[in-house]
Amino acid sequence: MSRGQLTVIKVGGALLGRPEDLSAVVAALVARRRRGDRLVVVVSAAKGVTDDLQRTGQQALDPRSGGELARAFVADLRQRHEALVAGLADADDVSFALTRHLDGIERLLTGIRLTGELTDRTHDLLLAHGERLSAPLVAAAIRAAGADARAVSSEEAGLVAVGPYRVGACDVAASRPGLSRLDHELHDRVLVLTGFYGTNADGDVVLFGRGGTDYSASVVAAGLGADGLELWKAVDGFMSADPRWVPGARRVPELSFEEACELGYYGARILHPRCLLPLRGLPLSVSVRSVENPDGPGTRIVEQVANGRHRVAALVHREGVAVVRVRAMGMVNRPGAVAGVLAAVGAAGIDVDTIVSSMTTLSFTVVEGDVVATRRTLRLLAEEEGALIEGFDLFADSALLGVVGEGVAQDAGIAATMLEGLARLGVDVELISHGPEDVGLSCAVPRRKLRDALEGLHRAFFEVGAAQPS
Ligand code: ASP
Ligand code: MG
Repeated sequence: MSRGQLTVIKVGGALLGRPEDLSAVVAALVARRRRGDRLVVVVSAAKGVTDDLQRTGQQALDPRSGGELARAFVADLRQRHEALVAGLADADDVSFALTRHLDGIERLLTGIRLTGELTDRTHDLLLAHGERLSAPLVAAAIRAAGADARAVSSEEAGLVAVGPYRVGACDVAASRPGLSRLDHELHDRVLVLTGFYGTNADGDVVLFGRGGTDYSASVVAAGLGADGLELWKAVDGFMSADPRWVPGARRVPELSFEEACELGYYGARILHPRCLLPLRGLPLSVSVRSVENPDGPGTRIVEQVANGRHRVAALVHREGVAVVRVRAMGMVNRPGAVAGVLAAVGAAGIDVDTIVSSMTTLSFTVVEGDVVATRRTLRLLAEEEGALIEGFDLFADSALLGVVGEGVAQDAGIAATMLEGLARLGVDVELISHGPEDVGLSCAVPRRKLRDALEGLHRAFFEVGAAQPS
């Protein structure tokens, strides 16, 4: 049909929840297609399906679960997927596409029950079925809306996965030949590709980590040499803060790769943490847009923001963290002391986040769910012979608040505005740390003060008379 520009569009699971959501996505895709774009759409599983696959896989491990679990689950999945496309696609077409993958899910669940084993390999294969179900539905809905479309699996597209199960990566160079075989077809039809996984040298499915469809889309854009990558979301790009917390939050017009990654680190789960890696040095445009306004500007993601000025791009936060402050005299002068504490915590299976150390203290954050294990581990450390540590304080109900922007960690003015602002609001700061690459400055505050802190700092950095740095 056309030789228009080649655009890769990622459609997230939140946009595949209700028929009206899917219908909005399809209308926007068809409009793009009519304008002449060549389109590859990379889709996530329908809303909630990946979580349900994961949970049901766990339940199937219980030998008492019985065959009914798998049958009921598969019947429910069929019903949900059929409901999603009801009236939007040909019912026989859809039912046919679903059956094959639903049978696959039932067999896997039965296998898990009979063997009492859920290996990482089976886990990945099971979870990939969410995307295997959604891609043919989206393709069928596009066809029903009047544009030709075909679903393509990651296997067919030749996405080569490397690395561990669950959080593998994609070898872009090795994937290029498979992708380029699809290239010519894009003149004739929209291709709808399964996100989230690739296959490794053994032919096994390997997931790219939760939220991995962003990463798949970016790999496909890099591998095909696309002109643009658009990540379609239910929101209008990145916001200067979470609008549920800060009503005055506004769209951020432009973010650098580093800023976007730093935002993702806080669990602003808007981009997969590795999503931008395959795009470094490539001339394509990257943006996050809302499906309601896909031709609007959204947020542009660029390698370098204009003339590298220091600026605050956004505030982020993460709830459900605990701050641990370990006391040990002369910590820094005792070789291995910091490492010893972190090793003990790591051996207990506790993930340590932000870490800050001084002469006499080592502070770090852990997730709320690890508080009990952390307390137990540190108590043992403090009690053992020749103990590494003297004691510790644990602030259980905390939140991380981050100021993200190029150069914020270098700019004393920004730290000053943050700390003065928090002091004025009577918010105790439990820990301060500089993020990597100078793009992040974060602190831990009591959870009950989080709303005040966010609103106050948003005013200081973004609203009237805001103190933007030089
Ligand atoms: N469906 C997968 C997940 O929920 C991948 C994605 O949504 O990007 O993690
Ligand atoms: Mg998903």
